[in-house]
Amino acid sequence: MRLAFFGPPGAGKGTQAKRLAAHHDFTHVSTGDLFREAIHDQTALGEQVDGLLKAGQLVPDDVTNAVVAEKLEALGYERFVLDGFPRTVEQARWLLAHLAEHDAPLDAVISLRVPHEDLVGRLSRRRTDPETGSIYHLDFNPPPADVPAERLVHRPDDQPDAVRHRLGVYDDETAPVEAVLRAHVRFFEVDGTGPLDEVQERVGEAIAEDRGLSGI
Ligand code: ADP
Ligand code: ADP
Repeated sequence: MRLAFFGPPGAGKGTQAKRLAAHHDFTHVSTGDLFREAIHDQTALGEQVDGLLKAGQLVPDDVTNAVVAEKLEALGYERFVLDGFPRTVEQARWLLAHLAEHDAPLDAVISLRVPHEDLVGRLSRRRTDPETGSIYHLDFNPPPADVPAERLVHRPDDQPDAVRHRLGVYDDETAPVEAVLRAHVRFFEVDGTGPLDEVQERVGEAIAEDRGLSGI
């Protein structure tokens, strides 16, 4: 099964994609994580994208598509859940064509709906653990007591100015992707508000409706 999460920054895509990956043996493919890894490893890609990520700007489509192509090929185009991609209409068109070429169409897109006014609070209180990849929220999903506070990262693009910029980029560049995906792939709208476990249940129900849980 091949899935993609869709939604604005802070909607909970990473959180839910990780849960799905852990419970159903999917590989979580987050373009943001792949870029942050490249920055950490100081690769040529990392140097190219570092400033863009800090400023909350999108990485060019050709660069992003190439990163995704390499990753999907390594996975044999099976059992992946995309998070944060596609984020532009051009990326969406490229993805649909690329997957068709490999006879591996997306089975479903899950769109997490969260009002914009909740997103700033979610992102400004987000903390990530680079060692485990865990995503926390200081109020809604606090880190366990045995995780040392100094290990947790407050991403530079989660500062208020960068967040506001990213939400603008979402409205301008990413929101129009919905129409392209809806035209080609089963598209589920899931309420992304409320406790994390409840959102996870709703995501599970959407996938079950698509395939039957045993078919995941
Ligand atoms: P995205 O990948 O869509 O940007 P994340 O999964 O990183 O979103 O979540 C953004 C922030 O919101 C994190 O701090 C996360 O812990 C928190 N979060 C995720 N789901 C919920 C939820 N249902 N309610 C409240 N906060 C949430
Ligand atoms: P969030 O989970 O908050 O939505 P991500 O981790 O997905 O953030 O993305 C962080 C940053 O990585 C983006 O602001 C952008 O600079 C870059 N990025 C991630 N995915 C893409 C993409 N599909 N196209 C272009 N840039 C991307």
